[in-house]
Amino acid sequence: MLIVMKADATESESRGVVRVIQDLGYRAHPMPGATRTAIGITGNQVVLDTTHFENLPGVAEAIRVSKPYKLISLDMRPEKTIVQVGNATIGGDELAIIAGPCAIESREQAFAVAEAVARSGARLFRGGAFKPRTSPYAFQGLGEEGLKILSEVREIYDLNIVTEALDEYGVDLIERYGDMIQIGARNMQNFSLLRRAGRSHLPVLLKRGLSATLDEWLLAAEYIMIEGNYQVVLCERGVRTFAQHTRNTLDLAAVPAVRQVSHLPVVIDPSHGTGKNYMVTPLALAGVAVGADGLIIEVHNQPERALSDGAQSLTLEQYNQLVYEVKSIHRVIAPLSDVFSPALAYQI
Ligand code: PEP
Ligand code: MN
Repeated sequence: MLIVMKADATESESRGVVRVIQDLGYRAHPMPGATRTAIGITGNQVVLDTTHFENLPGVAEAIRVSKPYKLISLDMRPEKTIVQVGNATIGGDELAIIAGPCAIESREQAFAVAEAVARSGARLFRGGAFKPRTSPYAFQGLGEEGLKILSEVREIYDLNIVTEALDEYGVDLIERYGDMIQIGARNMQNFSLLRRAGRSHLPVLLKRGLSATLDEWLLAAEYIMIEGNYQVVLCERGVRTFAQHTRNTLDLAAVPAVRQVSHLPVVIDPSHGTGKNYMVTPLALAGVAVGADGLIIEVHNQPERALSDGAQSLTLEQYNQLVYEVKSIHRVIAPLSDVFSPALAYQI
């Protein structure tokens, strides 16, 4: 159930509703918005009676949610969520660029890439310290040592660190060294990891699973939010299909599809979405054109020597060119952002 407060409801009226929900033994999720506050209720095994809530002071209406998800939905929050990542944001007016190597390999490599990323104006640096590799014999990442290098990158280049947690212990470590927890495609339905990230004070980048439907992906986000962490960014990184010309098939339709139902920001990963260096920039441009809030791009100072994902990594020069081109597209697209508003999509 979702309680929508009146536009002029006071904070103490919202607190009163939260108290009633908690006294019933359920969890309340207040989400203040631009025009009104909504309070989601989770934890109820039985269908709740709307009349319990409708007459409480400040309540405009109590809505029974028939969709499988609640907290991610536009009913909960009609305007887009802006996620704060350190001193950067994702979901605001600016196109968020998260760039860096697939894996942190050494201090020299990380610094060389970070220098270029900072110079490009991007505010977010990516790099895996724990790598989910298909083969156990492949480079697994530097572990905590890699996170220490990332925290140096944060200090020296004033970049915000996005890095993957493979397990709950990884979340503990990222809370010490990073700014955003990445949950990878292979872990999208690792429910204990999702719940642990939901109890973190850090925002979460949730990648779409290799063969996840939209609902499965959104419900994974719901697992994080149900624990009280509403700072979630969705990342489309391609899904597995019959196609052999790409590593994955980048599903750009996911952006408007998410917009239609959710307030969460969406970013596009054309690196894993294509697996091929020459396709990254064209698909990044397309991602911005369909209204993505940001991009996550793999870039390496020596792609031919990369310990993982070299084939899809951009050189520093290619990366600079990409930033220039995506910003040009974003300048055209941003004033048209109403085109992507769910209200308008609905009218069409
Ligand atoms: C990555 O970002 O390096 C990564 C492993 O991504 P994904 O989980 O999308 O495969
Ligand atoms: Mn990678």
